[in-house]
Amino acid sequence: MVENVLIIGSGPAGDTAALYAARSELKPLVIEGIPPGGQLTITTEVENYPGFVKGVQGPEMMQIFKEQAERFGARYVPGMVTSVDLSSRPFKVIVDESDEYLAKTLIIATGATAKLLDLPSEAALMGRGVSACATCDGFFFKGKELIVVGGGDTAMEEATYLTKYASKVHVVHRRDQLRASKIMQERAFNNSKISLIWDSAIEDILGVEEGEVKGVKLRNLKTNALSDMRIDGVFIAIGHKPNSELFVGKLDLNEAGYILTHDGTKTKVPGVFACGDVQDWVYRQAVTAAGSGCMAAIDAERFLAEAEAEEAKHAQVAAKTARR
Ligand code: NDP
Repeated sequence: MVENVLIIGSGPAGDTAALYAARSELKPLVIEGIPPGGQLTITTEVENYPGFVKGVQGPEMMQIFKEQAERFGARYVPGMVTSVDLSSRPFKVIVDESDEYLAKTLIIATGATAKLLDLPSEAALMGRGVSACATCDGFFFKGKELIVVGGGDTAMEEATYLTKYASKVHVVHRRDQLRASKIMQERAFNNSKISLIWDSAIEDILGVEEGEVKGVKLRNLKTNALSDMRIDGVFIAIGHKPNSELFVGKLDLNEAGYILTHDGTKTKVPGVFACGDVQDWVYRQAVTAAGSGCMAAIDAERFLAEAEAEEAKHAQVAAKTARR
């Protein structure tokens, strides 16, 4: 069977593409990825998505998105896409290294993943006091003292959330100014459990030998001074990288790895479209991802209609030639 539209990813972009493609009666197939529902399923409250007056929990919002798309006939398959062949149509997509799918059009909505500091001690202590997800792991740090690394909205959000459990949260930021929006900054500044450590970077996370985080080695980036700090946990919140590894050498990417699109959501391969955080390094919001998912579905629908018209024309010419 050849799918009309195969969507890779089930965050706001993938689900919205599925909703629109389903309403166009294209019966889209969504390969969900891990985690199903994307990054919002590991976040807390979403307060800036229009329509949710009182805010909504990320996982709940993604369940609603999925149910809405399914209501119109979108189909969801769990699993990770492990390879793609874009060299000819129908495109070939392999899921979990075994299941093969064929598709006339592809919508890439693979999103982005949290960046890490890339320290050996960070890797060794991941899940043992080091985390990149406050909602997933905050609960384990009741009454503990924590560090959140980063100066953006995610860092402020994670720090604020962690004060529900922690006795103290220190935000370590590499500059003397935050990148976070004013409202998120104020919320953090007004929280007596949060303190800021400016102009500093984590040089090392201590506790590898003990098998759990015991502290950090901090470098003051202005004075270069090193200091040890006792701490129970380290949450990394320094932004994201696009999940575009599958498409290296197959599509045009910028130097940060984001998929380059033109005329809406078109990639350099006709019939392959990209939407959401995997192609957006500027806005990176759930609502903009959803908007671009809608665009991708409309672009795919138009592509299919044009391809069908083209095929019909060829068939007519062939029939005429045969009659002569
Ligand atoms: P950002 O890219 O906005 O911020 C990343 C932060 O991490 C920056 O302060 C950056 O420092 C710092 N950083 C990056 N790399 C390193 C490193 N190697 N070592 C130390 N620090 C580092 O990412 P966010 O995830 O915070 O936000 C992404 C988008 O999501 C934004 O548009 C944001 O507004 C949105 N968002 C909205 C929320 C909401 O509205 N509720 C919640 C969370 C995110 P520097 O400033 O020096 O570059």
